Amino acid sequence: MIRFDDVVKQFGDHVVLDHLDFQVDRGDRVTLIGPSGSGKTTILRLLMTLEKVNDGVIWVDGAPLTHEEKGGKLVPASEKYTRRIRRRIGMVFQQFNLFPNMNVIENITEAPIHVLGLDKAAAAKRARELLETVGLSDKETAHPTQLSGGQQQRVAIARALAMDPDILLLDEVTSALDPELVADVLDVLRDVALTTDITMLIVTHEMQFARDVSNRVMMFDAGRIVEEGDPATIFTAPKHERTKTFLKAVL
Ligand code: ATP
Repeated sequence: MIRFDDVVKQFGDHVVLDHLDFQVDRGDRVTLIGPSGSGKTTILRLLMTLEKVNDGVIWVDGAPLTHEEKGGKLVPASEKYTRRIRRRIGMVFQQFNLFPNMNVIENITEAPIHVLGLDKAAAAKRARELLETVGLSDKETAHPTQLSGGQQQRVAIARALAMDPDILLLDEVTSALDPELVADVLDVLRDVALTTDITMLIVTHEMQFARDVSNRVMMFDAGRIVEEGDPATIFTAPKHERTKTFLKAVL
């Protein structure tokens, strides 16, 4: 379970998230839609603790992510505390962000070995299973530069899954890909969505994909939720004028 409790995030004077409240239940697959700059990526980056809240609290499975409890009070979380909670969260970025100096299997096993403490053989075994899932068993020893964008992104998905996350954050994962490479990546993610109970927060412009995999859609504008509901309702019968104009432009 993820809960944003009165979260404010601003960059300088620019309020990006404006007293935001929402909850995502375990196993939910939620797509965040909305115009550029409405705060979608910021929400994922806060969950990944790549940014800090200015106010409010983010909770993950009943534990505060942004704060820790000391003497009955919530105080800003220490780096050590945050790292422990964040371990349950995986993220796949638009730009893949693979380690360029490591080959595919090293990219996937790095965190399981160094963060989870798995032994090398167990980590490699799991990595090979995941490479099979993403259709890249033959690329184990390739380096990122030898792979297409779509293949790099599938390695990035395998790398995120190797940490056995409870929560997976997908930030416009196909936006940097040539159109013919998009389908393979979305197929892999569709498979993950429909065969695991990983909670997913998805920022995407691929509305058909959003419809296929998510059970909830939240429409953002200017750091607030304008409307939310199941995909069939939001995509076919949106209530709010802002959602209607947004969907008209992207569908
Ligand atoms: P897009 O669909 O274009 O990715 P988004 O809804 O994901 O947009 P965010 O990336 O969350 O929007 O950005 C929200 C606002 O915060 C934007 O106006 C952006 O310029 C601003 N912003 C994000 N990160 C920073 C930063 N590090 N410093 C200053 N402003 C930032």
